[in-house]
Amino acid sequence: MSIEVSKIVQAVEPSATLAASAKAKELVAAGHTVYNLSVGEPDFKTPQHIIDAAVAAMNAGHTHYTPATGIIELKQAVVSDYRNRFGLDYKPTQCVISNGAKHSLHNAFFSTLNPGDEAILPAPCWVSYAELIRLTGAVPKIVSTTEADGFKLTADALRAAITPRTRMLLLCNPSNPTGSCYSRAELEALADVVIEKDLFVIADEIYERLIYGDTKFSSFPTVRQGLQDRTIVVSGVSKTYAMTGWRIGWLLAPENIAKKVGSLQSQETSNPCSVSQYAALAGVSGDQTCVEMMKAEFAKRRDYVSQRIADIPGLSAPRMDGAFYAFMNISNFLGRKYNGVQVDTDKEWCLELLQQKKVATVFGSAFFCEGYARASFAASMETLERAFDRIAEFVR
Ligand code: PMP
Ligand code: GLU
Repeated sequence: MSIEVSKIVQAVEPSATLAASAKAKELVAAGHTVYNLSVGEPDFKTPQHIIDAAVAAMNAGHTHYTPATGIIELKQAVVSDYRNRFGLDYKPTQCVISNGAKHSLHNAFFSTLNPGDEAILPAPCWVSYAELIRLTGAVPKIVSTTEADGFKLTADALRAAITPRTRMLLLCNPSNPTGSCYSRAELEALADVVIEKDLFVIADEIYERLIYGDTKFSSFPTVRQGLQDRTIVVSGVSKTYAMTGWRIGWLLAPENIAKKVGSLQSQETSNPCSVSQYAALAGVSGDQTCVEMMKAEFAKRRDYVSQRIADIPGLSAPRMDGAFYAFMNISNFLGRKYNGVQVDTDKEWCLELLQQKKVATVFGSAFFCEGYARASFAASMETLERAFDRIAEFVR
């Protein structure tokens, strides 16, 4: 007898970002030097005061189950942060702490979508949304945006994509993989359609602290009256505090949703890791100088990467206003041979770049956008220098 995988899980694709990173690590294990621009995770060490808080929490005995939705201190810290920075009023009971923002997204989709519902995903978009939405039986409806529009969904495109089955719009702002950031006016225009068509929004704002130049970030529920009732905000500590391994994220939702997410989570995972919650608390409520320092470093790298891309004839990328990704347009480099190997698709291009030059990126079609390659600049300056030298050699 062999156990058959369920139909729903059979259809799940592995995460392309994590697969690209695993492939790079395999090459490193085999003795190669690899310039890894694949996975989006800060290369900085988690700030020391956060690590110290985790050690102190363990020594204080915080090594047991916590309330399913997270410790009250962390929920309070999160809601007061949203009050202070955005003027948004949430009660701690509207906040659910989970095992990373990816888990918060899963909880949000699972708690709001029914089989057959349509969820609008403006593309290019991060690899996990469509897969997680499909797990609920709902249908991800990919709506392509263009480089000319800065890869941002317009109100007209949103309106055109809505059918009687549409219930949700996913907005990732600032965007992974493009680095674009919506202006307040652009969000207002989308919000007007959302309200008119009676949709709800899952606003993934995990990169909101990492914005550059004179870009201004607006949290989605702030842009129109009443939006808080139809928005679930998702964020976490992974990117802001270089805490990807600690696995802490959260959602802020209307009370009825947060309550049921809590029930779901209590059955699924009991609670997020107790020690990590105390570490995250030190991040959210502690001194924010570390965030400013990491952001300043990302800003330098973003300027450097923009220049390197501009210096390679035929290569381009939209302006990166936030996050830490360059979404490189490689369409001029497809349909040719590289050391005798024919390369027609972005997937093949990224594979050959890795095989021949040992530079790891993620192909655009993983983000529903053929002809692009995503390079993460959450890597050291030295790695970026070498990687772009090699990309330049590769396309030459
Ligand atoms: N949303 C976006 C847009 C992301 O890029 C990521 C990547 N980590 C996540 C959510 C999930 O983050 P976490 O590490 O908190 O699960
Ligand atoms: N979000 C990051 C990325 O896009 C980390 C990996 C993942 O969770 O997909 O690379």
